[in-house]
Amino acid sequence: MDIFRDLNSWQTYRQSLNGSLGFVPTMGALHAGHLSLMQQSLNENSYTLVSIFVNPTQFDQQNDFEKYPSHLERDIRQLKNLGVHAVLLPTYEQIYPDHYTYKVTESTKSQILCGKSRKGHFDGVLTIVLKLLNLAKANKAYFGKKDFQQYLLIRDMAAAFFLDTEIIACEILREDDGLAMSSRNLRLTPQQRQIAAHFYQTLSCDKPIEQIIPILNQQGFEVDYIEEHFGRRLGAVQLGDIRLIDNVEI
Ligand code: AMP
Repeated sequence: MDIFRDLNSWQTYRQSLNGSLGFVPTMGALHAGHLSLMQQSLNENSYTLVSIFVNPTQFDQQNDFEKYPSHLERDIRQLKNLGVHAVLLPTYEQIYPDHYTYKVTESTKSQILCGKSRKGHFDGVLTIVLKLLNLAKANKAYFGKKDFQQYLLIRDMAAAFFLDTEIIACEILREDDGLAMSSRNLRLTPQQRQIAAHFYQTLSCDKPIEQIIPILNQQGFEVDYIEEHFGRRLGAVQLGDIRLIDNVEI
């Protein structure tokens, strides 16, 4: 597996590749949900590139950024074992030579749900993903439906800017009790982890939203939103200072 910390050396390597390239952007602290995207890329392409970059511009809370889990050595071991071909580990300075004076803004779908409560979040997401897609020059890029609003915005950005990369949506991987896998789950205390299991169970029950919000409150969640859009019921809740999001097909 080749590890690139420098964008120029990645770009030179990219030019030498013959065959299709699949790309999976991540913020690291990898779990089985991430690995399932990579496995799909490995199945569908000659080469797979994974990036790990905790993107500061998409965090609306400094504390959340600072506490974001990092397990680089373990991540690299997992990527090697899976058979990923290349890993990109860029620095902030390399990725933002413009100091984030240029950004991608979407004005409709980004204004609801997570975009409403996390100001600037999707500007940061779309900007980093556009940069990474331009660097990867992949045939296909893989995104999880766990972040469903994010997936839709990336898919539509790729269409709006005539990007050459096909955007692929992948199913949500869950723990045995239904909790959607997430790097942030690592930060839950054992007690919060037990409560967290109720989020998916309650979100996916057949009660109307008006009844679901008080149930979640009773279970110990602070509810940011539970809403239905795009044929799905989407939710965001807070447990202490940890934000969990999830969604289910209606
Ligand atoms: P992140 O590292 O959280 O930015 O996630 C990187 C990619 O993995 C995104 O496309 C996420 O939607 C996807 N992802 C995260 N958690 C899961 C999961 N539980 N199941 C499937 N995909 C996921």
